[in-house]
Amino acid sequence: MLKRILVTGGAGFLGSHLCDRLVEQGNQVICLDNLFTSQKSNIEHLIGRPNFEFVRHDVIDPYKVEVDQIYNLACPAAPGHYQYNPIKTIKTSVMGAINMLGLAKRLNARILQASTSEVYGDPEIHPQPESYRGSVNPIGIRACYDEGKRAAETLMFDYHRQNKVNVRVVRIFNTYGPRMHPYDGRVVSNFIRQALAGEPITIYGDGSQSRSFCYCDDLLDAIMGMMNGPDDFHGPVNIGNPGEFTIRELAELVVEIAGTGVEIVQARPLPQDDPLQRQPDITLAREKLGWEPRIALREGLQRTIDWFRNADLSQYRPPTPHY
Ligand code: NAD
Ligand code: UDP
Repeated sequence: MLKRILVTGGAGFLGSHLCDRLVEQGNQVICLDNLFTSQKSNIEHLIGRPNFEFVRHDVIDPYKVEVDQIYNLACPAAPGHYQYNPIKTIKTSVMGAINMLGLAKRLNARILQASTSEVYGDPEIHPQPESYRGSVNPIGIRACYDEGKRAAETLMFDYHRQNKVNVRVVRIFNTYGPRMHPYDGRVVSNFIRQALAGEPITIYGDGSQSRSFCYCDDLLDAIMGMMNGPDDFHGPVNIGNPGEFTIRELAELVVEIAGTGVEIVQARPLPQDDPLQRQPDITLAREKLGWEPRIALREGLQRTIDWFRNADLSQYRPPTPHY
């Protein structure tokens, strides 16, 4: 059944792909974004479609609209972006969640929260199941994001218990693909931009830290499946690709696919609180949503590199000096 759907953070990397799919299905889509880490070019092709509307608004301020579903994605996601104004980051997570939950409560709408693997901090358990409570430094430089997202999860479940709001929480692990901000400082965008520009690839630390990279199309299948999934399944559920790679392996793969033969350098020490390993246990997503990722890293990187090759990087404004 077609729905009215609000997507906060809808102009961002993941949000814009989500809007694409929801609009294609014929839903009435409202994309709310303050364009802090994104630009209208991500949604330009949707503007003018009768079932798509863009609203420039900050989620820390209340917003009223009539919808059936809310995807709450508004939040800077890259470390350089969320550390640029850490107070604003935690306000966005916490006040954004309160505002969107208030809306969901009034409308009796379903709400999905984009949480993160960062709730596990630098994990002592590997791979990470949802039952693991995490190892987050509450006063470190990542805390504005990690603790903000943890508090947003708390709010989701308190609104669910206290006000019967139908919440859904997904814990997203590193996701990449076309429309990542080229200057967001994240590892995939940095490495691809560097390789295509013929610049050295900058590894932080010795490159032995690991991440698990999920291609954006796989992630969208999962979050839409979660939103429209069983009435009584609220999560949290891990969404990510269990294929785990060291950062050095990622660098080597990017260099190979880009074919520019650039060198790989250890550019700086590992940043503070940078998790040493990360891999999702997706047993729950498999069981409850019948979901698992299909796109291997090599294929996803190929598609992302193709997009970067054709993107006009001069159109992108670095939102922060941290890239
Ligand atoms: P992104 O930075 O491209 O998108 C975030 C969007 O939110 C941007 O368009 C930004 O302008 C907007 N935004 C930020 N603060 C806002 C505010 N106060 N009011 C309104 N809009 C605001 O990042 P993304 O990778 O697309 O991430 C989307 C969501 O998924 C985020 O909540 C992020 O925490 C979560 N997530 C992403 C990943 C990943 O690897 N991509 C991993 C874990 C969690
Ligand atoms: N990283 C790196 N070189 C870069 C950017 C990032 O080695 O140019 C490392 C970073 O220190 C971390 C990993 O890559 O260990 C993933 O970083 P990212 O910022 O993409 O996301 P995170 O998973 O840390 O939130």
